[in-house]
Amino acid sequence: MSTTVSIVRCPEYREEQVYKSIAEALDLLGGLRQFISPGEKVLLKPNLLIGRPPEKCVTTHPLVVKAVARMVREAGAFPVIGDSPQLDSARKACDKCGIGDVARELGVEIVEFEPVDLSNPDGRVFKNFTLGKVVKEVDKIINLAKLKTHSLTTLTLAVKNMFGCVPAARKGQWHVRTHTAGKEYFARMLLDLYYFVKPTLNIVDGIIGMEGQGPGFGDPRPIGLVIAGADGVAVDRVIAEIVNIPAEQVPILMVALRDGYGTGRLEEIAVLGESIEGVKVADFKTPQFQDMMAKIPGPIMRLLKAYLTAQPTVKKEQCVECEMCLRACPRECITHPAGAIRINEEACIQCLCCMEICPQGAIELRPGFLLKLFSGIRKVFGRN
Ligand code: SF4
Ligand code: SF4
Repeated sequence: MSTTVSIVRCPEYREEQVYKSIAEALDLLGGLRQFISPGEKVLLKPNLLIGRPPEKCVTTHPLVVKAVARMVREAGAFPVIGDSPQLDSARKACDKCGIGDVARELGVEIVEFEPVDLSNPDGRVFKNFTLGKVVKEVDKIINLAKLKTHSLTTLTLAVKNMFGCVPAARKGQWHVRTHTAGKEYFARMLLDLYYFVKPTLNIVDGIIGMEGQGPGFGDPRPIGLVIAGADGVAVDRVIAEIVNIPAEQVPILMVALRDGYGTGRLEEIAVLGESIEGVKVADFKTPQFQDMMAKIPGPIMRLLKAYLTAQPTVKKEQCVECEMCLRACPRECITHPAGAIRINEEACIQCLCCMEICPQGAIELRPGFLLKLFSGIRKVFGRN
């Protein structure tokens, strides 16, 4: 065994319960002092995608952030909280999702990510990143991810959460740069980024996760778990097993296993606390069409892309014309002629940033002809 992942039950968001469960998860890994030392400045990096109330389960729950901030202080270190949400500042997003109250109560600073260009000589493919300056200034990073589905990457867990270290406007540029080479290339970038930033510890809030059309507008799903480990790939692999999603359907895990990033093989991961089988969520719902698209071989997908992918479209009756999607689109292919929001399908790269950001859930996926056909056939045979 070369790495350890702990799984601990936590049935609800009650302050002392959350603290106790996280403490137990860290004790199983040898205790927080294995990962941080007194006097160090420690960045707590929650998932702040967009500021929404905690019950929407879009962001890492404030009580998880609070528990870890308290523990870091008790270990003699100095926590700060930071992330770069899609549109808001970190402070504004924290205020909307309850983390702002925690920061004020504990007197912990919320830091914004000012962009700085950095070289990543050890990266397998990606040798340069623009990151939030503070990411490389702090002594350690503790990754506080949320267990959620993601319409582009199937799941967003520990590895994907580090994409938040890229300042907001630059995230879209990565979608533009990597889209022609497909999801695997984007996944390689995320893996190079994760191991460049290299959090000392990953803690995933799976107390109430999100299933369905994540990461912005899926359905809250009680799972009742805290999962922790030093290696993000191992943590993600264990969670994928828990929610019953094969590694081949999660591009980050597929590439990690194929190219040898981290520890993705279950036989090399020591699972402590609860067993995977004991906490399995057999009927966890993946994003629409995602599992089908993941099974289509790359060359076929490239050839028949228009028929085998799903195109974002605006549901007019739900859209409030707030224009948030316009600001999030890295291709600037969304327009707002009088009375309607329009997506230029020719220019769209299906990065789904618009879907992630829409506060009304007004953007849905319209499947291409063949995808619709396969989906229909599957329904006839009783598989969803
Ligand atoms: S973000 Fe959603 S609600 Fe706002 S304009 Fe775009 S589709 Fe409409
Ligand atoms: S319309 Fe949406 S999916 Fe298409 S490029 Fe813009 S943000 Fe990405």
